[in-house]
Amino acid sequence: MQISIPFRGFISLVVAVALTAACGGGTEPIAPPKPPPVATSIVFTAGANQSGFAGMAPAVAAVATVKDQFGNGIPGDTVIFSIVDGDGTVFGLPLVTDASGNATAPQWKLGKSVGPQSLRATAKGLTALLTATVTSSYNIDLRFFGPPMPDAAAAGFTAAAARISGSVIGDLADVNVGTTAVDLDKGCGVTGVSLPAGTLIDDVIIYASVAPIDGVGKVLAFSGPCFIRSAPGSTSDKLTVIGTMQFDSDDIQTLISRGSLKDVIQHEMLHVVGIGTLWSSKGVLAGAGTVDSRFTGTLGINACIGLGGSTICPTSVPVENSGGAGTADGHWRETTFGNELMTGFINSGLNPYSTMSIQSLGDLGYSVNPAAADPYNIPGTNFMATRGAAILGEMSPAWESVAKPAAMITRDGHITRLQQKQ
Ligand SMILES: [Zn+2]
Repeated sequence: MQISIPFRGFISLVVAVALTAACGGGTEPIAPPKPPPVATSIVFTAGANQSGFAGMAPAVAAVATVKDQFGNGIPGDTVIFSIVDGDGTVFGLPLVTDASGNATAPQWKLGKSVGPQSLRATAKGLTALLTATVTSSYNIDLRFFGPPMPDAAAAGFTAAAARISGSVIGDLADVNVGTTAVDLDKGCGVTGVSLPAGTLIDDVIIYASVAPIDGVGKVLAFSGPCFIRSAPGSTSDKLTVIGTMQFDSDDIQTLISRGSLKDVIQHEMLHVVGIGTLWSSKGVLAGAGTVDSRFTGTLGINACIGLGGSTICPTSVPVENSGGAGTADGHWRETTFGNELMTGFINSGLNPYSTMSIQSLGDLGYSVNPAAADPYNIPGTNFMATRGAAILGEMSPAWESVAKPAAMITRDGHITRLQQKQ
């Protein structure tokens, strides 16, 4: 028995060699030709489900891959990227996939408003969708009050809040209104509304309504901060906690039909956050009431210079010096800055929300994101010479009524009414 084991092994080896020899005799059938690769799918293989700040490129580039029926990438196919949701941007000319079947979305940037974004890639009639989110830690809690408002107005308020949250991104310490309900009739004009005891405010509540103010024409809108933070020593001191915006229902259709409602709402909401309304209380307004009112915040000055204003803003930014109360001392100067959103007059056409406006909010103590700004350049002296007088002639004084803070509130709800509106 001891020698039979290697013997049997030898026989097996011989058989195996014989079978191999028989198969190599040239009788194997020819395999059918492999079908040519065809594009059957396009998928995003990098960059999906990111979140980031408004106007910025996401950390990871978006890559779309065109694949064949075997799952292999197809080189040389044409891919086009486009924005679907959000107002992001991407270079829209066709790209050709590389050796691995990949195409990278060129110059993709997120939109300027907080919310969902999506990017589409198409190739050979195939489509892939990638989602992303614009985030912010500055939350605007928008609350409508009063009679039902037109859909366009509600959409305008919502859009303005999303846009401003894209440009102001830092969280502020929560405020607890304390153990007593806060009556918002008093000083805020939010009729019939009170904040329940214990309400936690993160970071600002803005009440908005469309209701009769003073008939057709005259005042179109009323807005401003109502309660501001009392947090001495903190950058958030005197920043808005509760604000209000009211539009005249007799004028709202005119604003809608002119196409200016969205810009006017954003303008008013920025007054609530603090542009023009908190300048004096934050110590960044000089020469108020004079012919040369100026904004003195460093970030705003530098942004003005960056927009071409080196001779206009060497040490301060020109502030509106005409138009009466509500316009003067609370806006950028119209004759200098033209169609910028936060001049005292809404222009027909574009009203850009500039880096200067965003950075001026940084001077008030907010953490800001200038990448959320619209493209804007300060008009040259030619504009001032040719348009200045005409614009002054177009001014309709007191089209808006801007409120200054009515009360201060500490983080734990201690309220101090401000004796005089500043
Ligand atoms: Zn205004």
